[in-house]
Amino acid sequence: MSIADNIKMLKSETDSIKVSLLAVSKTKPVEDIMEAYNAGQRLFGENNVQDLVEKQEQLPKDIEWHVIGHLQTNKVKYIAPFVAMIESVDSIKLLQEINKHALKHNRVIDCLLQIYIADEDTKYGLGFDEAIELLRSDEFNALKNVRIRGLMGIATNTENVKQIKDEFNELHVFFGGIKQSFFRKEDSFDVLSMGMSADYKIAIEQGSNLVRLGSTIFGSRVTKHWKNN
Ligand SMILES: *Cc1c(COP(=O)(O)O)cnc(C)c1O
Repeated sequence: MSIADNIKMLKSETDSIKVSLLAVSKTKPVEDIMEAYNAGQRLFGENNVQDLVEKQEQLPKDIEWHVIGHLQTNKVKYIAPFVAMIESVDSIKLLQEINKHALKHNRVIDCLLQIYIADEDTKYGLGFDEAIELLRSDEFNALKNVRIRGLMGIATNTENVKQIKDEFNELHVFFGGIKQSFFRKEDSFDVLSMGMSADYKIAIEQGSNLVRLGSTIFGSRVTKHWKNN
């Protein structure tokens, strides 16, 4: 199936149940992105700032770009003028930096807190307690140019469906608690980003309303191993 066919199929699957489809175009050329765009796709995700800036310059300006990978504070300035959402906020420092550059551009930048739910040794994402601590802090409450729209999580890369299900469920329950405790009056706290190509169906069953799909749309990516050779 072509990229356009994949988009059409996935959009009809997700639109009907009010789940947003983020096309993860990392490592893919602008031609591939244009094919998806011409099939009606507008939300795209990248994890590398330099690639993102280059693509944004070349592509139609009604694309909404999401950052999905770990973001270094010193790179925020490059994306602040145009980024639609930063899904991978994992510290107050990063949030303060986003706020600073958003203010310079007279914008409010939408963000998700990335929550660590996997049973894996990765460095990124906030623990449940850390997220609560961040939201309670005076430093956070002073920020006027960022808006927390919800939470993002990545499940363990495993064949164990029950484990994936439990991790997504845990994040869904936490999302409800956070909404109740911190965003009860804010309708804009409404995004639960869970699910990639391998596990998006489980994620949707567990309450996701934003799935991030790369290989299902664009085909598999060249791995680092191959790139280096
Ligand atoms: C690469 C990536 C995806 C998409 O992965 P696929 O398995 O190709 O769908 C989704 N989310 C994040 C955070 C990613 O880094």
